[in-house]
Amino acid sequence: MSKPKETLNPFEIARTQIDRAGKKLNLDAGMLEILKNPRRELTVHFPVKMDDGTVKVFTGYRVQYNDAVGPFKGGIRYHWNVSLDEVRALSCWMTWKCAVMGIPYGGAKGGVICNPKEMSKDELEHMTRRYASEISIIIGPEKDIPAPDVYTDGQTMAWIMDTISMAKGFAVPGVVTGKPLAIGGSLGRDEATSRGLMYAVREAAKKMKLTLKGATVAVQGFGNVGMHFARLMHDEQGSKIVAVTDSKGGIFSEKGVDPKEVLAFKEKTGSVVGFPGTKPVSNEEVLELEVDILAPCALEGVLTSENAPRVKAKIIGEGANGPTTPEADDIFHKRGIVLMPDILANGGGVTVSYFEWVQNLSEFFWTKSEVDQKLEGVMVGAFNRVWDMREAKKVDTRQAAYMVAINRVVEAYKWRGIFP
Ligand code: GLU
Repeated sequence: MSKPKETLNPFEIARTQIDRAGKKLNLDAGMLEILKNPRRELTVHFPVKMDDGTVKVFTGYRVQYNDAVGPFKGGIRYHWNVSLDEVRALSCWMTWKCAVMGIPYGGAKGGVICNPKEMSKDELEHMTRRYASEISIIIGPEKDIPAPDVYTDGQTMAWIMDTISMAKGFAVPGVVTGKPLAIGGSLGRDEATSRGLMYAVREAAKKMKLTLKGATVAVQGFGNVGMHFARLMHDEQGSKIVAVTDSKGGIFSEKGVDPKEVLAFKEKTGSVVGFPGTKPVSNEEVLELEVDILAPCALEGVLTSENAPRVKAKIIGEGANGPTTPEADDIFHKRGIVLMPDILANGGGVTVSYFEWVQNLSEFFWTKSEVDQKLEGVMVGAFNRVWDMREAKKVDTRQAAYMVAINRVVEAYKWRGIFP
């Protein structure tokens, strides 16, 4: 694959997206400058005792992008490619995500540069606890509430919750979301991002008069988001999952696969690759398959000006954060491909995080159907606000989502004013 011409720096991309929407909204230069900068950035370097007795120093970040609307909110990522600019971009996207969903949070994100695949459970626990302790000066249920992201999960959140609780001397469940049920997690949080993505794709399909029953779906990334999305589309919409990939490669089947069987296979072998009755497909090829729905559910910067002309899907649902460059956005828009942008499409995760936090603060828990119903209401509401903006202003769906989100944050600034 040849290299795209455009930048893949996620923070530069995030700022371009703000510029584009800002122009359409006629934002004044000062406000634009505020929105293009994070409020607070914490970098921590901390030692961890490894299993072999050596000490390794890790670097982590927590960027608190904007809290005009409410407390900071956003996940923590463990990945070898984590950088300050990536965390800045992700925290920026969290700001717009919470705003477009209409939930009362600002945006933040954390990350630690590490390779979790090469670390033991003990090493991960020690690293997580020390990182939590380092960022404890700025997180808390009323300040900034972390959650899972790439290569972190309920166990990671449980360690953070315990670390913060030990320092306080009492349990503080509301300090993180995405926790296991036994310590104050919410029913439905596991699959929430994917369920929300399914609703977003369903609403887009309705507008395009595309029937989801029997529609073909390709999913890049078979982690928490991609796996549940494939399962829900298969089980609840009757769609045909023709391709899925993970970091080791992927599988293609014209007949379609049952994601639950693929998951069982992956749990045994460590990858979807080699699932019986399928042909191999690469992480690049999966994006260009002849399918109705394409869901990039892995990492940033995979849809660029280089491959966008060859994408054949009718709907793109961004399960991942930042998978598409602005140049690729323009190409999709011109080609009539409807893209459900990350800040809307994968907003179901943080929405149920919000529900979890509300349940923690009120110490009263909801049933799974209450969670799903409320999530559907929030997703459909956000979708309609974005779609109306798209139609009214004749912009693509990403710009429409940014315009809805930015309007909300700007309104918060208007009421609060600029201190002092
Ligand atoms: N990491 C997820 C995201 O990017 C969830 C964030 C949260 O629940 O706070 O949206």
